[in-house]
Amino acid sequence: MNFAIQHSALRDLHDKVVAGERLSDADALRLFESKDINAVGAIADFARQRKVGNRASYILNRYINYSNYCILSCQFCSFARKKRDADGFELTIEQMVQKAREALALGITELHIVGGLHPSLPFSYYVDMLKALSALNSEIGNRQSAIGNGQRLQLKCFTAIEVLHLAWLAKKSVEQTLIELKTAGLDSLTGGGAEIFRKEVRSAIAKGKESAEEYLDVHRTWHRLGGRSTCTMLFGHVEKLEDRVHHLSLLRALQDETHGFTGFVPLPYQPENNDIPVRVPPTGFDQLRTIAVSRLYLDNFDHITAYWVGMGLKLAQVALSYGADDLHGTIVEEHIFHMAGAKSPQLQTEAEMVKAIREAGRIPVQRDTFYEAVKVWSSDSKSETDRMAVKA
Ligand code: SF4
Repeated sequence: MNFAIQHSALRDLHDKVVAGERLSDADALRLFESKDINAVGAIADFARQRKVGNRASYILNRYINYSNYCILSCQFCSFARKKRDADGFELTIEQMVQKAREALALGITELHIVGGLHPSLPFSYYVDMLKALSALNSEIGNRQSAIGNGQRLQLKCFTAIEVLHLAWLAKKSVEQTLIELKTAGLDSLTGGGAEIFRKEVRSAIAKGKESAEEYLDVHRTWHRLGGRSTCTMLFGHVEKLEDRVHHLSLLRALQDETHGFTGFVPLPYQPENNDIPVRVPPTGFDQLRTIAVSRLYLDNFDHITAYWVGMGLKLAQVALSYGADDLHGTIVEEHIFHMAGAKSPQLQTEAEMVKAIREAGRIPVQRDTFYEAVKVWSSDSKSETDRMAVKA
């Protein structure tokens, strides 16, 4: 038994996890309240190892925000703009295709696309966008694309609130809207917009946004259609630790029902340029502990991401020993966290992520949107050149 656990007050929870027993909400709260970060991390590391073995993943992806115009004004949001604002933007479909084409030359396998709830773009814009971007698959294998043979470009698009907005635009049910988006090329929903589900907190940080039930129902409907998605939790603002447990409990319950979530991404709150009276982002200690509790409580999730954009790559690397098994992606151009004050770089190179994973003692794996292996690296850079990899 790990020395950190042997003498810890959390030893009963370790024994529960080892026995494969599900942690209760009270157990999760105890872990969140614990100052024994080494013990919490060691238990989570055991659970991570048992679930996914010695691999840790990353994805070559590119973010595209089609617009930051939004009809809502969530208090925590630093990204949204009104039409009168000088730094508002919206992209034409041609501009998006151009950005995507440039990223394909870098070998990306995923476009991650979200935006605000645009006041005037019609439903056809979103359908045509998906069709135009998925048509890029015909270029893969050409010399403009560095994506490997047999690998599709995958479109991970829209938060649950965007889907509700699109259904309203289309004057159709959420189910019919999702069917039409899927037919146009949508591969996966993003997990954004979950924030914190507890009603009182949601009203304080994102008044007017969809309810927890609506968020969960969009994902439930998508999963029933055979789709997969990720989910998130924005933590470290005005919520209590009990609210985090409540949030995780709703995600765990939906995963029990649909098994449609591929992974969970805890998002550390960034405090700049918004109306929330919190001036200090969550500490490293809190971020590591939140990752660890997520791994332990969400026993029906395979993958827990250490989101380097919010954490910084250095802390995300450490999180690989606290329950995380994924570092997210190359991203290329990030607006939402950086407009809220994130100090991380705009992009991450594959070499930096592979190095971080190797140093953490894991086998680096380039994954696709659905966490399937695209490329498995050796665990030791000395045994081969960094450019060589074993095809999964
Ligand atoms: S969080 Fe999303 S829905 Fe809320 S204001 Fe920002 S862009 Fe709009």
